[in-house]
Amino acid sequence: MTTDNNRKDFPLLQQMDTIYLDNAATAQRPSCVLAAVQEFYEQKNANPLRGFYPLSLEATESYQEARKTVQEFIHAKEPEEIIFTRNTTESLNLVAYSYGLNFLKEGDEIAVTIMEHHSNLLPWQMVSRMTGAKLHYLECTSEGELTDEELQKGINERTRLVAVAQVSNVLGCVNPIRKITEMAHRVGAVVVVDGAQSVPHMPVDVQALDADFLAFSGHKLMGPMGIGCLYGKRELLEKMPPFLTGGEMIDSVHRDGAVFAPVPQKFEAGTVNAAGAVGLAAAIRYLQEKGFDYIQKKELELTQRAMEGLGALPYVHILGSKDPANHTGIVSFTIDGVHPHDVSEILSSDGIDVRAGHHCAQPLLEYLGVRSSTRASMMFYNTPEEIDALIESVSTIRRRMGYGE
Ligand code: PMP
Repeated sequence: MTTDNNRKDFPLLQQMDTIYLDNAATAQRPSCVLAAVQEFYEQKNANPLRGFYPLSLEATESYQEARKTVQEFIHAKEPEEIIFTRNTTESLNLVAYSYGLNFLKEGDEIAVTIMEHHSNLLPWQMVSRMTGAKLHYLECTSEGELTDEELQKGINERTRLVAVAQVSNVLGCVNPIRKITEMAHRVGAVVVVDGAQSVPHMPVDVQALDADFLAFSGHKLMGPMGIGCLYGKRELLEKMPPFLTGGEMIDSVHRDGAVFAPVPQKFEAGTVNAAGAVGLAAAIRYLQEKGFDYIQKKELELTQRAMEGLGALPYVHILGSKDPANHTGIVSFTIDGVHPHDVSEILSSDGIDVRAGHHCAQPLLEYLGVRSSTRASMMFYNTPEEIDALIESVSTIRRRMGYGE
């Protein structure tokens, strides 16, 4: 087991006296991210993209450098294909409002997987209501697998858009994006990938995946809150109308109309979150220094340990794949006879922070016949001792709830 001390990089992890296992909700931030944000405000603070004086130009340069860092990180062809948003939710809404409402119509189909986070479902329910396009659910096996048969049935000549998470925030399973983009492109559909849970944990190459859009949040990959990204292929972004209108996103405005700025500015209305973008770039550099080989190895070891320990308890049921490698550090489970809210309260009283509920994926839980679950989600900075404490605490819960074991 790798026991490196990554925690020295995280001021909050060093101070807190609880065990943080809610990383899929939001990660902790290393001091280099906090320093990058502070440095921006202390040394470069001016409204970017507006002024011609040195400070504003410096702010602009930092902001555009951050765009380049994101571009290289996810292997986009050009920096202009990266749009800064507030988070995954806003990125997906941008695609729904700008692409969905304008390019879909009655008779078309939108294929969405049953395991989507509400952020990659509600926007498509809205597009379906507004355009008359039909929503089709791609169902998975209880292990989270989207079978070829299910994909072939659901991605057909009527399909115009497929919405799919690369990694489920409940099951942690990795979906076959490349296969899906091939099938979708064969019928002329675009693929919108929710990368919120994949981008922080595995190398993502949008060109190799041939994804049309990819959304993710900064805060889940140790960047600041309030900054997110949307990747889109340039030819798609160029034909899409703006999502939000106002300052910053125009070339010129006249009494009876406006000429919009080129991409990506067309989609970044109002003063941008330059400090957030700079902080996100610092988080990406930090991740790159650790390296995904190391990160994935460490997170797999932790997941294996958690699944073995929890799986040995007969009344604990782990959702999703039996293979820890197909969990991306996410272990959701139920305990016979104990509500997940009670589970998380008891864990909390033992100093363990986990998430309980429907994890914003109610259709998946309904489909699996589980009303809610408890989710422990790991990051490479967690330790084997923390996982052992989780297992130990879980093993006492039924007894503490008045059961005999
Ligand atoms: N998609 C997935 C798969 C997620 O896990 C989350 C966050 N729980 C989101 C979308 C939404 O992310 P945000 O709240 O940062 O917009």
